[in-house]
Amino acid sequence: MPDLATCRAALAGFDVDENPRSIQQKSRDFYWYSPILKDQLGAVCADLVVSPRNQDEVIAILAICHAHDMPVTVRGAGTGNYGQAMPLAGGVVLHMKHMTGVVHIGEDHVIAQSGAVLKDLETTLRAQGYELRLFPSTTATATIGGFIAGGSSGIGAIRWGGLRTPGNIRRIRLITMEAAPRIIDLTGEDIFKAAHAYGVNGVITEVEVPIDPALDWVDALIGTADFAAATRLAFAIGAESSIDKRMISTFAPEIPARYFNRYTEFVTPGEAAVAVMVSRDSLPALTALIDANPDATLRFRADRDKGERRLTALYEYAWNHTTLRALKVDPSITYLQMMLPQDTIYDSIARLEADFGDELVMHFEFTQFSGRVAAVAMPLVRYTSAARLEQLIALLEADYGVTVFNPHRITLEEGGMKKTDPAQLDFKRQTDPKGLLNPGKMIAWTDPDWVPEPGRAFLFTH
Ligand code: FAD
Repeated sequence: MPDLATCRAALAGFDVDENPRSIQQKSRDFYWYSPILKDQLGAVCADLVVSPRNQDEVIAILAICHAHDMPVTVRGAGTGNYGQAMPLAGGVVLHMKHMTGVVHIGEDHVIAQSGAVLKDLETTLRAQGYELRLFPSTTATATIGGFIAGGSSGIGAIRWGGLRTPGNIRRIRLITMEAAPRIIDLTGEDIFKAAHAYGVNGVITEVEVPIDPALDWVDALIGTADFAAATRLAFAIGAESSIDKRMISTFAPEIPARYFNRYTEFVTPGEAAVAVMVSRDSLPALTALIDANPDATLRFRADRDKGERRLTALYEYAWNHTTLRALKVDPSITYLQMMLPQDTIYDSIARLEADFGDELVMHFEFTQFSGRVAAVAMPLVRYTSAARLEQLIALLEADYGVTVFNPHRITLEEGGMKKTDPAQLDFKRQTDPKGLLNPGKMIAWTDPDWVPEPGRAFLFTH
């Protein structure tokens, strides 16, 4: 059992937050996005929050926690939405809020401390003529360390693919959870030992990612006859080499009509929508493509229509922000993340629309995937009960050939991967032999014999 009192005393020289309200707040993320996780995780709370000022302090804090068998869960900004940053076994939340520095900007890369907020990083880079390749729609608050440890993709994916695409992360520096914590630099394939590992096998202190010459991006919103037409147009924009694009998203008609609050004057009821970020130089090619399409109408172009309006960037209506916008209007909404069979995507859209109606409202994000443009589905789901949601997932997988990346699960295995990543597990054996980092998030560590079963969630007890 961890010895909280002596551990707390040993941590006295660090920035320790013991205010119960703020400990509770720092023990939560956007888990409430999921009605299932909302029921499961409401009582989760750390014992204290410690915020290291630099890497030496990370090492010292981890050594103390290791000596006292104290669980440690790392927190960036806490914008993850599967309870990833929630300390299931209590203990210390290690908050990276002080480690926000930009270490170095090179011609093709940036090195930053893991607590750097992505939007601040992009602003710093833009001042020098560069931009990030990839960022989540939570860029205004999310940290680069949290994105790499907990995120998967985002704005930029249509140019560069997601975080798993080789080259999109160049180096991860992490600190191990041992009696004498080590500093390890991961490069090449080794990066995936710690990328998207929810901090279970090391505390990331520094990352190196590629950067590119900055382009002048312009938001545009296009209305289309229906969702299939939006998707066809999205694939056409994706395939058009004369258009530089940073984001392509498509939405079924209900979504812009009900949830694009600041854009209502640019939304035509009954129309589906395509939201894009394209370079200013690509606007003529984009408008030519739209003009040639009888099913599409350009409804909004930021350079032409924004004027003095205070409009939120369109990416804050896309990716996982679509669900947030919907939830704010209608608390009965939740969502899924899934991949439809790409070769029969229009048949799948038609079947899903016919069979599920407004229980499953389509939203796609477009990405480079294995050398081609692919649509990732993040549909809104009208939630009625946990049992129905589980049934819906099982139906989609069994009868519609859909792969669901279940966002209503807290573990690495049950969410994206559906199986244990042996490289991550082996690495954890070396870097966290006591299993103190973010307990309960890697099933294979806690229960190597656990076999996934549809509808059954892994329940961590400590
Ligand atoms: P946190 O939530 O604090 O942490 C995420 C995970 O990483 C946790 O397991 C945590 O323990 C671990 N971690 C954090 N920092 C470190 C570190 N230094 N070392 C080791 N482990 C660490 N995600 C996407 O990928 N793309 C999107 O477009 C996207 N859109 C979103 C929209 C909304 C409205 C919401 C609520 C979430 C969205 N997300 C998205 C999820 C999340 O916002 C991002 O993944 C974000 O980058 C997480 O960063 P964070 O700093 O908030 O991480």
